[in-house]
Amino acid sequence: MSDCIFCRIVAGEIPAKKIHEDEDILAFHDIHPVAPVHFLVIPKLHIPSMAELRPEHAAVMGRVMTESARIAGELGCADGFRMIINTGRVGRQEVYHLHVHIVGGPEVLPAML
Ligand code: C5P
Repeated sequence: MSDCIFCRIVAGEIPAKKIHEDEDILAFHDIHPVAPVHFLVIPKLHIPSMAELRPEHAAVMGRVMTESARIAGELGCADGFRMIINTGRVGRQEVYHLHVHIVGGPEVLPAML
């Protein structure tokens, strides 16, 4: 059994509110949403973080990005959304299985940078 919580979600060992799943990627609602729309998109392949990303991951990461935007549109983020990839200690990453947060809703989000 994997000790990676997102690998366990991929394996069906831990429940998640799935939005989309295919051979390569999984999208599910964040359990602690910070906005009306807050979901995660992950590659099924266990890549710990952006720091471990390699050229051979380009295709699956392309799918993660395009599906993130497509699902955001489906969930009503017609006026925009924010995509965040927390990386490492400085980036306050908590789960070391690469994931993109997609955050949005009807209201303009607080400024971040
Ligand atoms: O900080 P990081 O980008 O690693 O955040 C991990 C996210 O994964 C958190 O927003 C947390 O709510 C979410 N999570 C989840 N389902 C789990 C465990 C964590 O949606 N079972």
